[in-house]
Amino acid sequence: MIPAAFDYELAGNIDEAISLLGQSGEAKLIAGGHSLLPLMRLRFAQPDLLVDIGRIDDLSYVRDAGDSIAVGAMTRHADVAADPLLGADCGILAETAAQIGDPQVRHRGTLGGSIAHADPASDLPTVLLALDAEFDVRGPAGDRTIAAGDFFTGFLESALEPTDVLTEVRVPKLDGPATYAKYNRRAQDWATVAVAAVQRNGGTALALTNMAATPVRALGVEQALADGADAATAAARVGEGTNPPSDTNGSAEYRAHLATVLTRRALEQLSA
Ligand SMILES: Cc1cc2nc3c(=O)[nH]c(=O)nc-3n(C[C@H](O)[C@H](O)[C@H](O)COP(=O)(O)OP(=O)(O)OC[C@H]3O[C@@H](n4cnc5c(N)ncnc54)[C@H](O)[C@@H]3O)c2cc1C
Repeated sequence: MIPAAFDYELAGNIDEAISLLGQSGEAKLIAGGHSLLPLMRLRFAQPDLLVDIGRIDDLSYVRDAGDSIAVGAMTRHADVAADPLLGADCGILAETAAQIGDPQVRHRGTLGGSIAHADPASDLPTVLLALDAEFDVRGPAGDRTIAAGDFFTGFLESALEPTDVLTEVRVPKLDGPATYAKYNRRAQDWATVAVAAVQRNGGTALALTNMAATPVRALGVEQALADGADAATAAARVGEGTNPPSDTNGSAEYRAHLATVLTRRALEQLSA
């Protein structure tokens, strides 16, 4: 289908983008356009103004920030996947970005767009939740930081206000193993289910893709591991607190089974 009519403005910097967003109640940012434009073509989204942040080059970077790594919101998936600093100190983020879609999607799609879109089937939000990442946001009232655990509030809904711009993501440098186990029926597909597992600060954090209306932490599994359970026993608790969807890729029951298998495999990989 053809999108409804809209106006277009190219923002030169973050503050200009915020100001342009404030000019219309139905304005939306466009970054890579790989999630927003499909929605507009289906008319599930009908913004009357698109504010393009694609040429704000100072939102595209990966920097050493001491104990953490700072990644600009406009950094493309392909650049996240290829970055040597992330590869060395937060490999799970780079490896997950490399599993997104196909080369075209990875060269257009951005880290910030993936987070702001808040799709529970997306890969990066789940990994960022398991990493306890921090998101820097700028709005008309100034800058604030939102923890990944507080960010995803519902299906395609987040803690962002309509006039906010997500500017930076910070992930910890890891001192232990981490893995993202993604199951999809065909290469380049979205995950039917996926599990992020991160060993950090003496514990293990897990988060799930496509097992609820938002990416979710597998708190039952985390608790079982903290109590000394083995991988299979802990993985059996992965369904706690989830509400998996049923669709053409699998029923809720199938997803629950898949999550158990992927979690056990991910935990075994961490301890291999
Ligand atoms: C064929 C195809 C396959 C795909 N496969 C996968 C996959 O396997 N795994 C996966 O995780 N994803 C997949 N994607 C999604 C892809 O990763 C998207 O690029 C990404 O989810 C959105 O990033 P974007 O930069 O394109 O955002 P856009 O589409 O430009 O924007 C998405 C939303 O975020 C908002 N937004 C964008 N940037 C900001 C910002 N800085 N601050 C505030 N709001 C912002 C926009 O207003 C919009 O609401 C696929 C997409 C396609 C088309």
